[in-house]
Amino acid sequence: MVDQYILGGVLASVMGFVLFYNLFLKKNRSASTEIRDECVKSTATGNGECRSKDGDVDVDVDVIIVGAGVAGAALAHTLGKDGRRVHVIERDLTEPDRIVGELLQPGGYLKLVELGLEDCVEEIDAQRVYGYALFKDGKNTKLSYPLEKFHSDVSGRSFHNGRFIQRMREKAANLPNVRLEQGTVTSLREEKGTIIGVQYKNKSGEELTAYAPLTIVCDGCFSNLRRSLCNPKVEVPSCFVGLILENCQLPYANHGHVILADPSPILFYQISSTEIRCLVDVPGQKVPSISNGEMAKYLKTVVAPQIPTELYDAFIATVDKGNMRTMPNRSMPAAPYPTPWGPSNGGCIQHAPSLDRGRNDCSIV
Ligand SMILES: Cc1cc2nc3c(=O)[nH]c(=O)nc-3n(C[C@H](O)[C@H](O)[C@H](O)COP(=O)(O)OP(=O)(O)OC[C@H]3O[C@@H](n4cnc5c(N)ncnc54)[C@H](O)[C@@H]3O)c2cc1C
Repeated sequence: MVDQYILGGVLASVMGFVLFYNLFLKKNRSASTEIRDECVKSTATGNGECRSKDGDVDVDVDVIIVGAGVAGAALAHTLGKDGRRVHVIERDLTEPDRIVGELLQPGGYLKLVELGLEDCVEEIDAQRVYGYALFKDGKNTKLSYPLEKFHSDVSGRSFHNGRFIQRMREKAANLPNVRLEQGTVTSLREEKGTIIGVQYKNKSGEELTAYAPLTIVCDGCFSNLRRSLCNPKVEVPSCFVGLILENCQLPYANHGHVILADPSPILFYQISSTEIRCLVDVPGQKVPSISNGEMAKYLKTVVAPQIPTELYDAFIATVDKGNMRTMPNRSMPAAPYPTPWGPSNGGCIQHAPSLDRGRNDCSIV
C-alpha cells in the first residue's frame, strides 16, 4: 500500500511537471515578448501603484506570486532564471517552524537538480533517505528506492522544513529580477473578468496594489484566497501529532519508518543528524487535548506499545516533556472555477499528507 503511494507520488510529480510545463512555462515563453512590449508602454502613477498608460498592466513585473513556501519559492526562482520579472509577496519571511514538508522523495530531489535548486538541501544538516522500513504486527522489512541507475547523489532528503524553505527563498531572492517582499495579500484584483493583480498589506501595514499580467497563488493549505479561485470540498480525514525525538537511533538508518499501527500509521524519519521526527496519525478531525493531558495519555497507552523498541524510551521522554504539535491532514481535490484567468497552484490543489506521498515534490514541479 505504502509503496503504491510512493510510486503514486513520483508519478504525480512527473505528470504535474509535464502538465505545468506545457500549460504554463511553454505558453508563456512565447507570450513573453508580447508581455514585455506592453510593459514598455507603461508609466508610474505616483501613488504607490504602477500601471500602464491604458491602465491594464504593471510597468515592471511580469508575474506576481502569492506565497513563498516550497511552491512559490521554486516557481519564483524558475521564472526568474527564465528572465521574468517576478514580484513575490510572502506573509512571513522569517524561518518557518512547521511539522510539514520535511521529507523530499528522490523524484523531488531530481526536480531540484533540474531547476538548479539542489544546493537548497546543503548546509541544513539534511539527511539522505534511501527508502522505507515497514513495521506491522511485530514484523518489519526494508524497501529501498530503485536508485541504481542514478548518480550517487540522488536519494530522498529529510530536513527541517524551515531551513529548506529559507534556502529556496534565498535562491529566488538572489536573482536580480526577483523581488521578494514581506506582505499579506488580502484580495485578488479583478477587472473585466481577468485577474490584474493583488491588494496587499506590506510589512509597515500600508495597503498597496500590485499589478501584473499574471498572478499565481501559492498560498498553501490555510489560503484565504482559495474561495475566489476554486471551490474544493475540503476534507480532514485525520490529524498528525508531531514530536521530535532526540538521543536515539532509527532501526534502519537513512530510511523513513512507517508503522502500520492500529488505528492508523505512525511515521519516523530523521530531520537532522540528532533529531527524529515522529508523526502520529490520529483519525478524525478532533485530536485528544494536549493541555488537559489526554494527548499524552493517548500517546503512551495506544501509540507507544506499537513503536519499535529502539525508539520507545526517547518517545516516552518526548511525550513527558510535552513538546507536541498537531496539524490537520487535508484532502482538497482541484475544483477551479471556469474563469479566463485560470486556477492557482500549490496548496490549492494538492496540500495533503505527507511522508508517504511526496507533496513537496509536487509543489516543486
Ligand atoms: C502534517 C503534514 C506533513 C507533511 N509532510 C510532508 C512531507 O514529509 N513531505 C512532503 O513532500 N510533503 C509533506 N506535506 C505536504 C507539504 O507540506 C505541502 O505539499 C507543501 O507545504 C505545499 O507547499 P506550498 O508552497 O503550496 O504551501 P505552503 O508550504 O503552505 O506555503 C504557503 C506560503 O504562502 C504564504 N501565504 C499564505 N497566505 C498568504 C497571503 N495571503 N499573502 C502572502 N503570503 C501568504 C505562507 O506564509 C506560506 O509561506 C505534509 C503536509 C502535512 C499537513
